[in-house]
Amino acid sequence: MTGAEMHALVRRLYPLCRSITGDGVRETLRIIGEHLPLDVTEVPSGTRAFDWTVPPEWNIRDAYIADATGRRVVDFAESTLHVVGYSEPVTARMSLAELRRHLHTLPEHPDWIPYRTSYYQRDWGFCLSQRTLDALADGEYEVHIDSTLADGHLTYAEHVVPGRVSDEVIISCHVCHPSLANDNLAGIAVASQLALHLARQKPHYTYRFLFVPGTIGSITWLARNQHRIEKVKHGLVLACAGDRGRLTYKRSRRGDAAVDRAAEHVLSGRPHRLVDFSPYGYDERQYCSPGFNLGVGCLTRTPYAVYPEYHTSADNPDFVTEEAMADTLAACVEILAVLDRDRRYLTLNPHCEPQLGKRGLYDALGGRSDAKQAQFALLWVLSYSDGEHSLLDIADRAGLPFDAIAAAGDALLAAELVKE
Ligand code: ZN
Repeated sequence: MTGAEMHALVRRLYPLCRSITGDGVRETLRIIGEHLPLDVTEVPSGTRAFDWTVPPEWNIRDAYIADATGRRVVDFAESTLHVVGYSEPVTARMSLAELRRHLHTLPEHPDWIPYRTSYYQRDWGFCLSQRTLDALADGEYEVHIDSTLADGHLTYAEHVVPGRVSDEVIISCHVCHPSLANDNLAGIAVASQLALHLARQKPHYTYRFLFVPGTIGSITWLARNQHRIEKVKHGLVLACAGDRGRLTYKRSRRGDAAVDRAAEHVLSGRPHRLVDFSPYGYDERQYCSPGFNLGVGCLTRTPYAVYPEYHTSADNPDFVTEEAMADTLAACVEILAVLDRDRRYLTLNPHCEPQLGKRGLYDALGGRSDAKQAQFALLWVLSYSDGEHSLLDIADRAGLPFDAIAAAGDALLAAELVKE
C-alpha cells in the first residue's frame, strides 16, 4: 500500500466518532477489517482488569447548542470534537453564563476546536473555537446531547501474522480518538500496511497487531493475556505516525531491549530523535509497567503533546502526509526486519580464520560493488560468533549495516562455518 492508500484510509476513518467504547470503534474496526482480517473481542462493561473496570459503553447520535431562534451554533454533525467524549445525555435551556461552565476553547488558537474527554467522571460539555464562543450573544440557549451511557462492551481487535515460531512481536495502536488524524488514524493506517507487508515476508516471529482503545484497552488486553505474556518477546507502539516532523523513538523501560537496539541501529541512518522511557505517553506505559516490563518501545514522528495541533481540530487529514506515513512504514519495516533476523551464531571453526576461498565464499561475491563490505562482514561475523554476540551486536561493533552482517551470517550458515 502506498502513502496515497494510507492517506485515503485516514480520510475515510476521520469522520467517525470514536471513543474508548462504542459503535465508532466498531465501525473503525470494520473498515480496517476490509484490509486485513481482524479478530474482534467484546469485553462487557463492569469487567475488572487489574485495578481498572471496563466502563459503561458510550454512544452518541446527535448534539448541539441552539440559540433563541433555534439556529445550531455548535453542531456535533459538523465535528465529532464538538462534544466532550463520554458526555452524559442532557436536554436543557440555560443562560450563556451557566453554559460557559460546560464550554471548552483554546484562546491561544482561536480557530481550533479542542479535544476533551471525561471518561471516568460523569459530566457533559461542548468544545468549540474561541471565535465561535466570542460571537455568542448573551441570552438563553438550548443544549441537547443525545447520548447513551449503558452496560455494553469495550471492543478491541487483533490481527495475527503467523511466523515460523510462536514467540511474538506485538504492534499496538490506539483506536479511541474521534476526528484526529495524526494522533491515532495515521498509526492505524501504518500498522495496517505493516501487517500486509509482513504477511508477504513469511517472518520468523509471529506478529500480533493490537487495535485497542488507549489505556483501558491495552490494560484489558494485558489482563486477558497475562497467562501467555511470556510469548511476547518484542513490541512497538505506533502513534503520531503521519506528521511532517522527524521520527522519534522512545525506548522501552528496560532501555536496552532488542527493539531499542534495533530501532537505534535503523534510525541512525535517518534524521531522528531518541528519548528514554517515561511513564506517560501511549500504551507503552502499560506494556512496560514493572509487572510486565516488556521490551516495547514507541515509534512516533513528533511526539505526543509536543506539536500545537495535538488534540485539536488542526490535527486533521491535511496535517498528515502520504510521504510521512510511507517513511514511518519504511522505518517500521526495517526495525522489524532487524528484530526478525537477529541471531546468535557460534563459529564451528574457532581456531584461526577458516579458508573462505576454498568454500567459494569470496568467489561468490566477486563483481559485486559491495564485495568489500561483504568480505568484511564475513570476517566480522566469524570473529564475533562466539555465542556471546548477536548479529546486531556485530553490526554495531563493525559499523556495518545490519543487512550486510545478516547476509554474511546466512552465507556462513549455508557453508556450515557457523551454527545457531
Ligand atoms: Zn491522544
